This record gives sequence, structure tokens and C-alpha cells, in this order.
Amino acid sequence: MTATMPTYARAPLAFERGEGAYLFGTDGRRYLDFAAGIAVDSLGHAHPHLVAALTEQAQRLWHVSNLYEIPEQARYAERLVAATFADAAFFCNSGAEAVECALKVARRYHAENGAPERFRTVTVQGAFHGRTLATIAAGGNPKYTQGFGPAVDGFDQVAFGNLNELRAAIGGQTAAIMVEPVQGEGGIRAMDAEYLRGLRQAADDFGILLIYDEIQTGFGRTGKLFAYQWSGVEPDILAAAKGIAGGFPCGACLATERVSSAMAPGIHGTTFGGNPLAMAVANATFDILLSAGFLDNVVAMSARLKTRFSEIAASHERIITDVRGMGLMLGLRVAEDRTNADFATRLRDQGLLCVPAGENVVRFVPPLIIGPEEVDAAAAMIAAACSAWDSDNG
Ligand SMILES: *Cc1c(COP(=O)(O)O)cnc(C)c1O
Repeated sequence: MTATMPTYARAPLAFERGEGAYLFGTDGRRYLDFAAGIAVDSLGHAHPHLVAALTEQAQRLWHVSNLYEIPEQARYAERLVAATFADAAFFCNSGAEAVECALKVARRYHAENGAPERFRTVTVQGAFHGRTLATIAAGGNPKYTQGFGPAVDGFDQVAFGNLNELRAAIGGQTAAIMVEPVQGEGGIRAMDAEYLRGLRQAADDFGILLIYDEIQTGFGRTGKLFAYQWSGVEPDILAAAKGIAGGFPCGACLATERVSSAMAPGIHGTTFGGNPLAMAVANATFDILLSAGFLDNVVAMSARLKTRFSEIAASHERIITDVRGMGLMLGLRVAEDRTNADFATRLRDQGLLCVPAGENVVRFVPPLIIGPEEVDAAAAMIAAACSAWDSDNG
């Protein structure tokens, strides 16, 4: 019996220190961290620029309320607006809150435009949007909704990739379509540009909004600042969090002027969101993400890792049935007679951390700062784990 609620099946492992892409366990071992706190530690551990920004800010000012001007927040919002489709940003503390804000903005937009009956959002099977009551309803995964009472109303789910079904699901009460450009928890399932264009077209045809949940894909994870920038298909609203501040809790909801102008003082808010400490770290993370060559490295390391994965998959066909993903958000699908959880444990024993995902996939979301040595070291551990697993199972 522990004093924490039994909400997690924790691995019997704790860490005392991190440096770059490595974590040092209290067991005395060093681990290559291709989990990165689930795509959060985008600049690795203890990045000097983030440490400096955090400590400098910590000595001056941690928190003031959004009742006052917060210059660091205004500056960060301007930088996000300059780098994306968006004209305005709202800051919160987590991914689920960013999605909640996106949903509220979408509903409010229609209410302000004479269609308050438009409150429903169409989502896609395999989606994950967070763990609040509204976001579990949006995700529609029974594992997360069961036992929590009647689902929050306002979500309709359609098959992944099927535009006809999606268009048929849009009715007079629909406010928005919401998707992850690459589903993370769902098993690293990327949406192609044609599908995204179809979503945009449907939104425009029916006068509704397109929301991207880029909480996992955002902030350089796929090799662009945001994944939508690969296709050029812009949303009206975008939710972000995870890698936004390199491990400091922070989230953001971005929107166009047309949509965000539906918001007004007092109708939405947060105590902690966008406080000086969070914004100092978010700004510092952004400095690095925007620095010359940073995203090129993500693209190059992605290509190298994918090549290694394909080689490993080719020599272990009984274990790995698919290599998938974009940028440094990659997955290996494990054969049906084995489990991704077992694979993840075997990789951990080798000294490599990863994250299980849906469809029996193990997900690799390393810090974006990795170089060829880390890619090759990870590949060697995966190959070794596969070889051992092959011989275990005869
Ligand atoms: C992690 C995640 C969320 C939820 O973020 P929290 O910070 O845990 O609330 C929502 N959507 C996607 C796509 C995610 O990956």
C-alpha cells in the first residue's frame, strides 16, 4: 500500500539525475531516454539554456495572476503567432486543458455567430485528447470512460481516414472537427496530407472549425515546429503542450483572429497558466527550437532511426511487423503473439526507455537533441532485445 492513488502501473525504477538524452537510475544504471517523459523533455535533461532561464527567473518572480500584465507571456504569444497560422494564444498548464480551451473557443465562436446550437465535435477513432471529463468523451476510449458516469455530451466519433463517414457525421449541431495529425497514444498513426485536406474542405463546406490536437506532435517533434506545417493544411484552433517548455508544465491553445475574437474578458481563465516561471522556460525552449539547424537535426536523426528500424524489422520479422511515424515520433509494431509491454520491459533491461502505445506499438519519442551516437546506441539495444526475444520464444 502506497500513499499515492493506484492510478499507475509504475516500473520498479527511479531516477536521480538526467543529462542530455540519458537518465541515471537509483539502481546505478544509465538509461538512454527515448521516452522523454512521453515526448515532453524535448531538449533532453538539464539543458544549460533552460536551467539558466529557470534559475534566473526563479530568483526574480515566479507567479503573478493574469489580472496583471505578464510581459514574458505577451512576448511568447507574439513569437508563437509569428511562427504559426495563429493570431492569438491562451496559456494553460497541460494538454487536456489546452484541448478544453480549444473546445470552448469552438463552441463560443458559433454562439457568438448566431449558432449556439453548434456545440458538437467530430473526433476520430484511436484518438487521445486527455483525461478530463470532456476530453475522455472526445477520445471515446472505453478504457478511460468506463466508471465515470454519463459521458460529457457533444462528441461524435468516426473511423480514421474515412472522409465520407466524417462528412455524414456533420450535422446542424456540429461545431468542429478535432484530430491529432499523428495519433500518439493511438499507436503512432499519421494522417496523410490528402486526408487533412479533406478535413479542411469538410470544415469549410459545412461552416465549422478544424482543431488540431498537436500536444504530442508539436514543438518540433515531427521535424517541423508543428506537424500541420508538413501538409500546409492549417487549422482554426490548435492545442499544444508536452514539449512546449522542455518539462516545465505548460500548455497553449492557438487560434486565428476570426475565432479567438469570440472570446472576451472573464469567460475563460486559469490561475497558473502563462505565469512568469512557465513563460521563461517556454521562451527559452523556443529559442533553441528556432535556432539554425535544430529542426534539420530532427529530420536527419529521424531518417537515420527509421533506417535502423527497417533493418531491425527485416531481420526480426517474427517480432516487428511495422515501422511507422514521422520525425522523432516513431513506432515499432509488435507481432500479435507478443506484447508491446513485454518488449518495453526487455528494452528497459537493455538500458533503453520507450513508451507503449495502442495497436501493440512501442513508441520512441527521444529528446530532439539526439545525435547519430544515440540513434545507433538505441538501435543496438533494440536489436539485442529482439535477438534475445527470438531465442526465448524458440
Ligand atoms: C498527452 C496528450 C494529451 C493530454 O495531455 P496532458 O498534459 O496529459 O493533459 C492530449 N492530447 C494528446 C495528443 C496527447 O498526446
